[in-house]
Amino acid sequence: MNAPETKPLVFQPGSAASDLARRLRGAVAGEVMFDRASRGRYATDASIYQVEPLGVVVPRSDADVRAAFDVCRELGVPLLPRGAGSSQCGQTVGAALVVDHGKHLNRVVAFDKDQRTITAEPGIVLDALNAWLKPHGLWFPVDVSTSAQATLGGMAGNNSCGSRSIAYGNMVHNVLAIDALLADGTTARFGPDAEMAHAPPKVRSLVEALRAIGNRERDEIAARVPTVLRRVGGYNIDVFHPVSERPYTADASVNFAHLLVGSEGTLAWTRELTLKLAPLPVHRALGVVSFPTLHRAMECARSIVLLGPSAVELVDRTMIDLARGNPAFRPVIDAALVGEPEAILLVEFMGETADVPVRRVADLAALMGDLGLPDRVVKMVDAGAQKALWDVRKAGLNIMMSMRGDGKPVSFIEDCAVPLEHLADYVDRLTEVFRKHGTRGTWYAHASVGTLHVRPILDMRRDGAAKMRAIAEEASAMVREYKGAFSGEHGDGLVRSEWVAWQFGSRLTRAFEEIKALFDPAGLMNPGKIVRPSRMDDRALFRFPPGYRTLPITTALDWSAWNVDYDPGADVLSAPGTGTDPAQGFGKAVDMCNNNGHCRKFDAGTMCPSYRVTRDEIHLTRGRANTLRLALSGQLGADFASTAVRDALDLCVGCKGCRRECPTGVDMAKMKIEFNHQWHRAHGLPFKNRAIAFLPRWAPWAGRIPWLANLRDTLPGLARVSEKWTGLSARRSLPRWRRDAFLRTQDQGDATADVVLFVDTFTNYFEPENAHAALAVLKAGGYRVAVARAAANDAEPVRPLCCGRTFLAAGLVDEAKREARRMIAALAPHVERGAWVVGIEPSCLLSLRDEFLVMGLGDAAKRLGEKALLIEEFLARENAAGRLRLPLVALPEKRALLHGHCHQKAFDALAATKTVLQLIPGLAVEVVESSCCGMAGSFGYEAAHYDISMRMAELSLLPALREADPATLIVADGTSCRHQIADGMRASGGRAAVHVVRALERALVHSDTR
Ligand SMILES: Cc1cc2nc3c(=O)[nH]c(=O)nc-3n(C[C@H](O)[C@H](O)[C@H](O)COP(=O)(O)OP(=O)(O)OC[C@H]3O[C@@H](n4cnc5c(N)ncnc54)[C@H](O)[C@@H]3O)c2cc1C
Ligand code: SF4
Ligand code: SF4
Repeated sequence: MNAPETKPLVFQPGSAASDLARRLRGAVAGEVMFDRASRGRYATDASIYQVEPLGVVVPRSDADVRAAFDVCRELGVPLLPRGAGSSQCGQTVGAALVVDHGKHLNRVVAFDKDQRTITAEPGIVLDALNAWLKPHGLWFPVDVSTSAQATLGGMAGNNSCGSRSIAYGNMVHNVLAIDALLADGTTARFGPDAEMAHAPPKVRSLVEALRAIGNRERDEIAARVPTVLRRVGGYNIDVFHPVSERPYTADASVNFAHLLVGSEGTLAWTRELTLKLAPLPVHRALGVVSFPTLHRAMECARSIVLLGPSAVELVDRTMIDLARGNPAFRPVIDAALVGEPEAILLVEFMGETADVPVRRVADLAALMGDLGLPDRVVKMVDAGAQKALWDVRKAGLNIMMSMRGDGKPVSFIEDCAVPLEHLADYVDRLTEVFRKHGTRGTWYAHASVGTLHVRPILDMRRDGAAKMRAIAEEASAMVREYKGAFSGEHGDGLVRSEWVAWQFGSRLTRAFEEIKALFDPAGLMNPGKIVRPSRMDDRALFRFPPGYRTLPITTALDWSAWNVDYDPGADVLSAPGTGTDPAQGFGKAVDMCNNNGHCRKFDAGTMCPSYRVTRDEIHLTRGRANTLRLALSGQLGADFASTAVRDALDLCVGCKGCRRECPTGVDMAKMKIEFNHQWHRAHGLPFKNRAIAFLPRWAPWAGRIPWLANLRDTLPGLARVSEKWTGLSARRSLPRWRRDAFLRTQDQGDATADVVLFVDTFTNYFEPENAHAALAVLKAGGYRVAVARAAANDAEPVRPLCCGRTFLAAGLVDEAKREARRMIAALAPHVERGAWVVGIEPSCLLSLRDEFLVMGLGDAAKRLGEKALLIEEFLARENAAGRLRLPLVALPEKRALLHGHCHQKAFDALAATKTVLQLIPGLAVEVVESSCCGMAGSFGYEAAHYDISMRMAELSLLPALREADPATLIVADGTSCRHQIADGMRASGGRAAVHVVRALERALVHSDTR
């Protein structure tokens, strides 16, 4: 096919931009951002494209939106609406003023329980809406995989579809009305035809003109618009003469809101949406069918759909394997398989009574038997097990994107929908096409509706663009042959708008242009999408355009694991360090962020505490990764160590939440260490940061004169006076130095010990009772314990060992290495003879399993890491092996609330804490669903971060503790978490949290301290 000419979309900065910024700042109460880094953070979505916007507005209110529209109209500046920016096709990138509705415009405006309708602002996130609706027994059932991020405005913009669309339809089938703002300033409600009669004359003439186009094109609609259920390309011109298997409305009447649904922000701004709700499904059951081949799975989908399921979802071998590589997903996926299948189908049934879906699953098993696949169905009736598996399926695409190397699964034909009878053939032929182009595809699918999310692995820095076009041409020919839709779910954007003419023909394309002109005559709304598009393979619009480079950097940490190349044809990953990254792998680690937006989350888990508080793109893991990428590629200036990056990382508390929860494994905590290192090398380290970083070195002196070291909190006024030069908040108390530091009183050097207790700086000097408790518990368990000490030949044999955490936090990697070497040398003899190294403070001990392995310390560090455990992990293991014999009795407290330290959670160690607490007879343990407590090492002590730190604590942790009965035991293993709890609960009567070993020690029979 002939692609249209590329349009010049790239903005040239100049006086127009500064005029725009000035005018907007005068007119809008919300944030107005025109700096390069902010624009860069809004230049990408979850697609392969990058186009710098002119500026960004985060409106506080509808009035702000209107004011921004007025300014843009006067200056002739294009506008680009944006929600979570999770679009995969480049819908939300463009040389326009981005209007981000996600932060403030998220209210429920009206709710009618009886009529099952709700009206909401566009920025409300689907999961938040459904949490709001749950007590009413209702939900909005367009359950997209990105339900925790996707905003209703964005979902309407893309005509999004959920896994259960076979039962509920797409967005367009569930939107009743849209209150819109047109680029010319007109506000109008678009809804059922009958209601439009009452619209103002200007709007009435608009809808009549639209109707005239629809009627004029009746034959063309019948001839060109795909009839498959999944079709989201172009404008919904067939509202006037529906052709789809599923009509837009029950009575086939016209609803003008449906023309706006799927219009990708090109026609109007959605101010409010009125939605149709559904009763929450009462009972569900899942049958998971294991197939020997992908072809067979696709072949059977057609018969399975006849059983009336609510969802039929495909998961292929690649995704099964990648999911198995994730510790959280592995047990879930394993429980769903029969043998070693090449593909599985998740088949869900719903019903009013519990027996209905269960019977349907039995029917499914019988059907599979008839189809020659007996005993291939795993039945899942338990709601928890079903949810866990759906979560793996929802994470599917992200799991696929966790591949290392420059080749990534690229979305451009990921959306084609073909009639079910052709699905198996389509899969086979497409596999062949991929092979021909030296690649392979990753597959998952909404098999029920024939939408195959297939993404060939391409290297978009090199030959990806040419292969993308070639593959798209061949796939489109097949889609045409099968009478399918080229754009079945994710929309047109920059990647598929070019294909609108291919799909709908020149006549309907002209009709689309007329529709656009009726709504937006000046062409200001999200130009270049759906009509008058650019080429999909215009490399100037790519995130990695021609000439893209990475600045050469000598890194402090070892990033070689990311510096690899992947050959998709041969399915071979090269050895660590063999890639071509001039930043020694750091650049490729940063590039792992594909902008999917999963870090914009507020539900369970930790990621990302700073975003949860500020809701600003800059404080999102994605915003940080983007800033790093822009800086590393010289797009923010010649220096990587720029203030733009420093600002983006400022509120990163290094919680490692992203390390575990980001589906592609972006580890921002580690990246911050690297950046801080580069920054200090270029700019030096201020005294106050240096003082905190070097605490382990001066601690022995402070420990000798604790009265002096504690003076800041005992001498009235000193905290306030010293705030300026120490940077420590006067509103904080500091940890108190103790005269009875643990290592001054204990010297256990058993060379045959089973366990070596590593007592970190904080425990030693501030909370020695925790080390005593750990020792007592280990001894009560019958273990021979040695206390870790510096090696005899250490240059500072008396100074306690240290993991280097404070140095790492400051980016002083060389100093951290020095500490790590001391640790390795001291502990190597114990490790070599098989002893466990057990620690008390999560952030210290877990450094041995994390940062120690990326500081170039060789195999000895690896061996130490393999033997390093938190004390609760050690006890839980011993218990599981039947070796733990702790003589424990009940405590007066019957309930414990457990707050996990972020690093405990990141290393999956919280379950062990819960397990050992539950060894205490009669103690009911409940984990507080909290993100980071906000203290995070020295972060919360710093005056500049005090407020944000308290806001993090107030998100969920402190409210949960305030609600707890005063007799509840509060357990927190992190020293800073305990301090935060003490500070945060002071005004509520005061509550203290203890380390798990203190609770165990109290419960020990014969314990002195009980
Ligand atoms: C990993 C992953 C999985 C996904 N799974 C699914 C899936 O299962 N089903 C599915 O359908 N999609 C899926 N998507 C695509 C995407 O998440 C959805 O389309 C989502 O609904 C978009 O919501 P958003 O808030 O991010 O919108 P955005 O991406 O911000 O915007 C989407 C479009 O709507 C327009 N828009 C936004 N706000 C307004 C407004 N107020 N007025 C007018 N126009 C507006 C934008 O200009 C843009 O064109 C997935 C994406 C990813 C990365
Ligand atoms: S940081 Fe991770 S979760 Fe966030 S957008 Fe990037 S890849 Fe997705
Ligand atoms: S380490 Fe924590 S605060 Fe920093 S980006 Fe990751 S989740 Fe956010």
